[in-house]
Amino acid sequence: EADTAMYRAKSAGRNRIAFFEAAMQSDVEQRLALENDLAEAIGTDQLEMFLQPQFDAAGQPDGCEMLMRWTHPVRGPVSPAVFIPAAEESGLILPLGDWVLREGCRTVLRLQEAGHPLPVSINVSPRQFRQIDFAGQVKAILAETGADASQLIFEVTEGLLIENLEETILRMHELVSIGIRFSIDDFGTGYSSLGYLRRLPLYELKIDRSFVQDTPGNPDNPGDTAIVQTILSMAGHLGLRVVAEGVETREQADFLKAAGCTALQGYLLARPMPVAAWLQWQ
Ligand code: C2E
Ligand code: CA
Ligand code: CA
Ligand code: CA
Repeated sequence: EADTAMYRAKSAGRNRIAFFEAAMQSDVEQRLALENDLAEAIGTDQLEMFLQPQFDAAGQPDGCEMLMRWTHPVRGPVSPAVFIPAAEESGLILPLGDWVLREGCRTVLRLQEAGHPLPVSINVSPRQFRQIDFAGQVKAILAETGADASQLIFEVTEGLLIENLEETILRMHELVSIGIRFSIDDFGTGYSSLGYLRRLPLYELKIDRSFVQDTPGNPDNPGDTAIVQTILSMAGHLGLRVVAEGVETREQADFLKAAGCTALQGYLLARPMPVAAWLQWQ
């Protein structure tokens, strides 16, 4: 918000400081209102987990990602890109994350019961992962729901890996030992280095949408095609599954498949949808 406020202050051109402060205040107020409303939404049907399937090269579903949806009673749908960062900052991500874990486990069971089992990926925020007893919480929810840990994939971002790498590695191993698999989300946008990737017990990398968008060969951005190819060859050496996220066009899908990427996720194939809708579609 600071950037927005700064931008507004600059474009206003007069009485900059006062305007900047006013803009800041209203942003802070907006943020607080959002946080209050989000706190109240937890445990109500305003929040729902959607599912976006992933497909293999033959077009068969071979995984899915759970994505949170919030329908505010007055504002309507609020984007996770807005409320997740606010939840992360305020700490609300902890009760939310707990709920997401439970919903992930329930979805694993629902898909199994419907006769269409699929591994379920959930987004685990750094703050959630760094809780001292995160592994204990995961075990408790697995025991409570009876879901199979090997059907769960935790998507974490590279940001998690800059601080306390040793502790992160230990925690990952503890969770891997009970069957959880790990994926690096938005791969390529952070601090990726082959050195640390080799030290993590990983299952998968997800190529960030920003790279997928510019394949194959956007003349303005020829580098992105090379980045995708590099990620795929690196993952090949490390024996990791690769999911391309945000696949929107047939050209992107064809390029990715030809380059050896087997799992595709994006609007071209399917949009995020309620679990019931996916089961009907199956
Ligand atoms: P993400 O984990 O990178 O999720 C992928 C985002 O791309 C999702 O946005 C998804 O709806 C969107 N997407 C999928 N296919 C396409 C496509 O073909 N084109 C385009 N333009 N977009 C596509 P969404 O659902 O708005 O979520 C935004 C971010 O919010 C997620 O990014 C994730 O970081 C966070 N988020 C969502 N749900 C959760 C959650 O349950 N827990 C946590 N911690 N974070 C979540
Ligand atoms: Ca994700
Ligand atoms: Ca992602
Ligand atoms: Ca992303």
